[in-house]
Amino acid sequence: MRVGLYPGSFDPITVGHIDIIERAFTIVDHLVIAIGKNATKTPLFELDKRLAMIEDEVGPKAAARNVRLEVISFDKLLVDVAREYNAKLIIRGLRSAADFEYETQMTAMNRSMAPDVETIFLPASPEVGFVSSTLVRQIVAMDGVVDPFVPLSVLKEISDLK
Ligand code: ADP
Repeated sequence: MRVGLYPGSFDPITVGHIDIIERAFTIVDHLVIAIGKNATKTPLFELDKRLAMIEDEVGPKAAARNVRLEVISFDKLLVDVAREYNAKLIIRGLRSAADFEYETQMTAMNRSMAPDVETIFLPASPEVGFVSSTLVRQIVAMDGVVDPFVPLSVLKEISDLK
């Protein structure tokens, strides 16, 4: 049973995250999507809402692929979450050189704390590699259209914010 951990702030989950998640399904038998609690100081969506939107969107896809899915939130070291769930793989998406710089540094720190946990990077798919939650939040704040960037369950919640 290969357990993978995909951490992020997911505020909100985007088509870019979903692309990484679907590709992670080919690698793991059990995926733990972990929402970091302190990643964004003033989030667009509260943790519970983010968690529910991920479950709505990803649950059926995981079931269809026979992958066990857990969506959790955490406010501790990622390596401790990995230990708790017996995950030997941390999955991250890489969009840009900026992601690479940050991610390789974080990976090295994590590896020195937990040498038995490997981090793997999946390159963003070109069609969605430009999408970021931060930009989605900014577009929402300016009343713009985010339909191409987020799944339906998120669109519904965004229209409820107004
Ligand atoms: P963001 O950086 O957009 O706020 P998160 O912190 O939730 O998003 O990101 C969680 C993980 O998903 C990170 O590894 C990030 O690089 C990856 N990711 C986010 N958006 C995309 C995308 N469009 N394509 C590929 N990977 C992505």
